[in-house]
Amino acid sequence: MKEVRQPSKKPLIYYYAIMLLVVFVLNALVFPNFNQRAITETDYGTFMTMIDEKNIGLVDIQSNQIVFTDKAQQKIFKTGIMNDPTLTERLHDSGAIFSSEIIDEASPILSFLLSWLFPILLFVILGQLLSKRMSKMMGGGGMAFGLGDSGAKVYVPSSTGIKFDDVAGEDEAKDLLTEIVDFLHAPEKYREIGAKLPKGALLVGPPGTGKTLLAKAVAGEANVPFFSISGSEFVEMFVGRGAAKVRDLFKQANEKAPCIVFIDEIDTIGKKREGNFGGNDEREQTLNQLLTEMDGFDGSKGVVVLAATNRPESLDPALLRPGRFDRRIPVELPDLQGRIDILKVHAKKIKLEPNIDFEPIAKTAAGASGAELANIVNEAALRAVRDGRKAASQNDLMESVEVVIAGYQKKSRVLSDQEKKLVAYHETGHALVAALQTNSAPVQKITIIPRTSGALGFTLQVDEGDHFIMSKEELLNKIATFTGGRAAEELVFGTSTTGASNDIEQATKLARMMVTQLGMTKEFGMVSFESQTNQYLGGGGYMTCSPETQARLDKKVMDIIEEQHEKALALLKDNIELLHTLSKYLYDHETITGEEFMDILNSHKQ
Ligand code: ADP
Ligand code: MG
Ligand code: ZN
Repeated sequence: MKEVRQPSKKPLIYYYAIMLLVVFVLNALVFPNFNQRAITETDYGTFMTMIDEKNIGLVDIQSNQIVFTDKAQQKIFKTGIMNDPTLTERLHDSGAIFSSEIIDEASPILSFLLSWLFPILLFVILGQLLSKRMSKMMGGGGMAFGLGDSGAKVYVPSSTGIKFDDVAGEDEAKDLLTEIVDFLHAPEKYREIGAKLPKGALLVGPPGTGKTLLAKAVAGEANVPFFSISGSEFVEMFVGRGAAKVRDLFKQANEKAPCIVFIDEIDTIGKKREGNFGGNDEREQTLNQLLTEMDGFDGSKGVVVLAATNRPESLDPALLRPGRFDRRIPVELPDLQGRIDILKVHAKKIKLEPNIDFEPIAKTAAGASGAELANIVNEAALRAVRDGRKAASQNDLMESVEVVIAGYQKKSRVLSDQEKKLVAYHETGHALVAALQTNSAPVQKITIIPRTSGALGFTLQVDEGDHFIMSKEELLNKIATFTGGRAAEELVFGTSTTGASNDIEQATKLARMMVTQLGMTKEFGMVSFESQTNQYLGGGGYMTCSPETQARLDKKVMDIIEEQHEKALALLKDNIELLHTLSKYLYDHETITGEEFMDILNSHKQ
């Protein structure tokens, strides 16, 4: 994925810096030499001969030297002073002109003009010409300088540009974008028939799912220039600059059509305008300019504006009106097959041992984004290098999943013996409750090595295939599993610790969802009491019921969790020997794989 990317302002700055340096060097080294070479030092004898031959033009007798020129005033000479009383007379007779301005032929001001101002001016003019030339050539697809006023970057796809093949697991998005590619390829085809393609499309999805990559791939597939700007770049700008930048961006784009204009993180400028606080003037101006530009340009010319956001709900509705970003392209987290495909795309970039099976890796990395999967592959390669091996192995990949998803292992942070024991029981508690309930996912691996992410233990649960629909029983089992950690602590140590705070949060979230959104309780039935405001950031829901109902809902949530907590306690009590054995194993080895876990579990059952 090689692409030429040149911010427009930089080349000019470099150019001027180099220019100043050149002028400086010239002044320091070359110009003084000129002056010195112009003055030839001669002996007094030659001077006298020249007087006799009447070959003196100008002459200046100074206190320590005599400076003079030949008759034609072509050359300047100098010679020392001698005790020569008749000199002035003889010079006069020879027709020499007495002048005190032979060397200082250029006054200080003039010499400054000549040696500094003039060269600088020359360079500036040259620079202007060059930059005009370059921006013209850009259209030809050769150069990549945008020396306009805006900071919009110009991407010119080279032959190795990003293609749809580089984006895995986003077939739906690719399908939707194919039409745009076709349009950019042959805008005439659409113009002739009178079809109007959307001017703008909005790529919507969580971070790291390949939105930027897809936008680049559209440009790569269509082989058109790619102008990109990020919404966040506007935020730090001086007042008025944002709008100007947008104007420049679209001006450039119009000149280079067909092309793609990509606005990343559009939510930073396209946020809903809130009336009460007077808003952010700069952002509003920028947004207004963007709206104006989108309405103004001729869509049939082949300028397509793509924008990306992970917070579609926060966008100003004006942006989504017809003729603007009226097409929405979802870019979701990859499913199992998608994850396998993404791993394979990135695996091509590193050396791998033969016969790698990507499926278990993709399974373990449930919920990972494309960016995280790319990171996992890279991390595997790093591991191999660290160990001095030539290719990454299956195990490297497997270990990398944990590193990327749970943060680096931090062996330096040592747990006290008691802490370690407690964490071992806590994590085994989760896993055992999960395994004992038939519907819960089996455990892939547990480890009690602290990680930088802050989580002490870490239980990886592998979903068997990706399923989005869960039954009420599965949800309840999940809640029981969340409480299993605390339950084990209580059973064995008779205390509760802070280690379960995240579990409690998760369990509460689930239980709450069951009651207020999923209609999974008899009492409240199929009524939604909560609306989700932010799908991607998991932002808060807001309640749509009376305070009395809310109190009853809260009570129900507590009941559900308490019930599952009791269930977990009972399960662990019934299998207390198993809990001890598994926890001891985990304590001793610091990690236990799903296989080892199930072996111990099954041998106990016999
Ligand atoms: P977003 O813009 O959605 O936050 P990016 O496009 O910036 O995500 O993705 C960052 C990196 O993650 C990409 O450069 C690529 O290496 C990898 N990546 C993300 N999604 C995918 C995908 N679907 N297929 C292949 N690689 C991906
Ligand atoms: Mg991005
Ligand atoms: Zn826990």
